[in-house]
Amino acid sequence: MPPAMLCADRTLVPDPDVFFPISTIDPRVVAQTEQAKQLCATCPARPACLQTALTGGRYTSYGVWGGEDEDQRRRLLRRRARSTA
Ligand code: SF4
Repeated sequence: MPPAMLCADRTLVPDPDVFFPISTIDPRVVAQTEQAKQLCATCPARPACLQTALTGGRYTSYGVWGGEDEDQRRRLLRRRARSTA
């Protein structure tokens, strides 16, 4: 099971859809993204979850994983690529 599925436990997170906002512009969705990031902030799986998202390809390219949204993860990947070049 990918680490991010831990947050799909409905006893921990009543609405796992919060991790998959449908927009990065709509203010309501921005609030949803921030809510997901707050949940991730205390998640013990956060480092592994983020690593899975950064190496998982298309399946993990969307949504909040490991406390980072897709734009943040793209920046992280670019930074990593530059540091290893
Ligand atoms: S870090 Fe966030 S997305 Fe990953 S398992 Fe934990 S709560 Fe879910």
